[in-house]
Amino acid sequence: MSAVIQIPIDENEIISYNPATGKELGRVENTSAEEVKVAVENGRNAFQTWRKTSFSERRKLIMKAREIILAELDEIALLISHESGKPVAEALSMEIAPVLDLMQYFARNSEKLLKPRKIGIGLYGLLGRSSKIIYQPLGVVGIIPAWNYPFSIPLGETVMALMAGNTVVLKPSELTPLIGLKIGEICKKAGIPENIVQVVTGAGATGAALVEAVPDKIMFTGSVATGKKIAEAAAKNLTSAVLELGGKDPMIVFADANLELAAQGAVWGAFCNAGQSCSSVERLYVEESAAEKLTELIVTETKKLKVGIGTDENVSVGAMSSERQLNIVKDHVESFEKDGAKLLTGGKSDGLFFEPTVVVNANNSMRAMQEETFGPTLPIATFKTEEEAIKLANDSEFGLTASVWTKDSAKGKRVAERIEAGTVCVNEVLYTHGIGQTPWGGFKNSGRGRTHGIEGLMELVQPQHIHVNKLAILPNAWWMPYSKTAVETFRGFARYFASGSLFQTSKLSPQLTKRIKELLKKK
Ligand code: NAD
Repeated sequence: MSAVIQIPIDENEIISYNPATGKELGRVENTSAEEVKVAVENGRNAFQTWRKTSFSERRKLIMKAREIILAELDEIALLISHESGKPVAEALSMEIAPVLDLMQYFARNSEKLLKPRKIGIGLYGLLGRSSKIIYQPLGVVGIIPAWNYPFSIPLGETVMALMAGNTVVLKPSELTPLIGLKIGEICKKAGIPENIVQVVTGAGATGAALVEAVPDKIMFTGSVATGKKIAEAAAKNLTSAVLELGGKDPMIVFADANLELAAQGAVWGAFCNAGQSCSSVERLYVEESAAEKLTELIVTETKKLKVGIGTDENVSVGAMSSERQLNIVKDHVESFEKDGAKLLTGGKSDGLFFEPTVVVNANNSMRAMQEETFGPTLPIATFKTEEEAIKLANDSEFGLTASVWTKDSAKGKRVAERIEAGTVCVNEVLYTHGIGQTPWGGFKNSGRGRTHGIEGLMELVQPQHIHVNKLAILPNAWWMPYSKTAVETFRGFARYFASGSLFQTSKLSPQLTKRIKELLKKK
């Protein structure tokens, strides 16, 4: 392993490197703002036909795309490993398998999930009115993902957008453009018609151009800083954006937890994807009486991990994605030491590889316990009471995920409900992004809106309310012209009809009859 310098962006092209070896993987176009605009226009035109396709046509195409992925399974896993630095094992377990599951789920269930829904409208129903909600697609969905799950996140969002009847313009991260293009290729091979899924490659400027081109929705995954820029730019056109931002996952371990399992969970939660998951365990709070034992178990587990090039099947921790990311990790480890915390194992880097690092005596006043690290560090702090654990976990600008470990399930659920995070697991860690059925998204600065689940699907449609009067033979009592009788009737509406009670409303009948007669006479 040797030092690697990455210079991925040129004026006209992006060079894709393997972060583990420094080897060039390929060059792709740096799409201009004008070309991005054309892509959005093409997507909008294509939307007019795509929106009319049936759920079963869409389902067939998505299921075909799944078959293509399965046929090219090892090739895709290798590409993910090469371009992102993660082990092939994780390309398979944390990207390909979950997105294949998401694909079959939304291919098979979107029709049911987006089925028109009748709404109970109380006493209005007795007046012969009916209401239902239908879900209309939005148009062009602009997807701007990060590099850390470069296959599963954008592909999952693409599939959901398509099943809901939208078209997609995807701008992959500049660190993983080949994987983005692979998604486009899979869609094409599956027979998804032209301009339904378009991939534009480039860096931040291309992403900004996509926002400027006014898609009908933006699905963004990345840092808080970029999320704020996108929200600001999108607001100019009132474009709605789902923002999936950073995290600082707290893991709370009570003394009554299965400590062996908690230690293994912590090690995977902190070090998988070389710690570059938005839901990586970045703060571990353990009850004081169990701290020594848990720490010992964690250090033992950590020392078993092999760091190296992700194509070696025995490697658990691959390369970091970029020098920028590596430098943040180095800075945080240094700052932990400066602030009085202690490294028990790890702490060193070689090229873009950083050893899994366990830190003890950490506390929330330390900078590295507040900022997102996004690297293979596991800082451990202690607590004395349940109340203190909750307070420490919530003492963060982030609120994406968290976990609580205890054998007392009532306590687990009680604590989980008090943690300010979009997902809280009890005796589980990190992996729920892999369950396409469940919503994903953050509280506080971890984001706005949701991906996955019914909530995520709802982000990709606009509800339309269809209201029908089946007794359209008489004028409505609240219509014009107004009169003394009208005002008296409206008082009755307030007193009786608005109570929601049929019995109360029946008292309004004589006044209502008078008012209707008045309206009919005035005709
Ligand atoms: P980033 O914000 O630097 O970049 C994300 C994407 O935005 C890239 O495609 C980039 O090219 C694009 N971009 C940059 N500037 C832009 C601009 N002005 N306008 C439009 N697009 C622009 O983030 P990153 O370094 O790629 O990813 C790491 C971050 O992503 C971490 O904070 C991590 O927690 C977060 N993340 C969150 C989730 C989640 O689900 N909440 C998932 C994965 C990663």
